[in-house]
Amino acid sequence: MGSLVIENVKKAFGPVEVLKGINLEVTDGEFVVFVGPSGCGKSTLLRVIAGLEDSTSGRVVIDGADVSATPPAKRGIAMVFQTYALYPHLTVKNNMGLGLKQAGTPAAEIDRRIGIASSMLSLEPYLERRPAELSGGQRQRVAIGRAVVREPKLFLFDEPLSNLDAALRVNTRLEIAQLHRRLKATMIYVTHDQVEAMTLADKIVVLNAGRIEQIGGPMELYNSPANEFVAGFIGSPK
Ligand code: ADP
Ligand code: MG
Repeated sequence: MGSLVIENVKKAFGPVEVLKGINLEVTDGEFVVFVGPSGCGKSTLLRVIAGLEDSTSGRVVIDGADVSATPPAKRGIAMVFQTYALYPHLTVKNNMGLGLKQAGTPAAEIDRRIGIASSMLSLEPYLERRPAELSGGQRQRVAIGRAVVREPKLFLFDEPLSNLDAALRVNTRLEIAQLHRRLKATMIYVTHDQVEAMTLADKIVVLNAGRIEQIGGPMELYNSPANEFVAGFIGSPK
């Protein structure tokens, strides 16, 4: 389970409204990509979904329940950031397991989940290493693994590949696509990269200055952009 409904979500920072009424439905198991120029509100929207920011108005509904007042840890969401935010003093294994341990999950269950996640992400050889002993791509896989072990209803990715070099970006993108197929989980993925959007998405949401310009499948947006903005964003390479 992992459906999401966003109803007329607005968010202002002081006098500046950065989300101007967002409406969106995501069905269970869908891979939805948010694209749009820098500053258009992609990260803010993810943070509102995760509960890391309160919206100014509107509702966030997960699996039919309004979670607008639910704290982040209780929303069944795991978020992966551009910077990996790993604890430098902990091993890969303990970085992945820390959240579960803090939530009181039994050690055997933590080990079972780390075993599955590290196998999916080819992290088994690195479990006893510390982040400083890993490459950027490996660190990002650990951050993804830390999300996987929580078995969230909803994965949120905020430009997870933008700190990686080109070759690693392709590999990690393929791993995320594979993870989606295996877990059949709902994933929402922010990028400003057209190739990532076109290859990963079931559905693309094009944002511009706090509003949705168009929602549709990759080929639908490519072939029938609603306006010049969408055409410029999806149709032509940078
Ligand atoms: P994106 O992820 O699409 O690049 P963001 O959601 O990060 O855009 O930011 C959207 C706008 O909101 C930007 O103009 C940004 O400066 C502003 N903003 C984001 N977070 C804050 C904050 N905590 N306080 C004030 N302004 C913010
Ligand atoms: Mg952002």
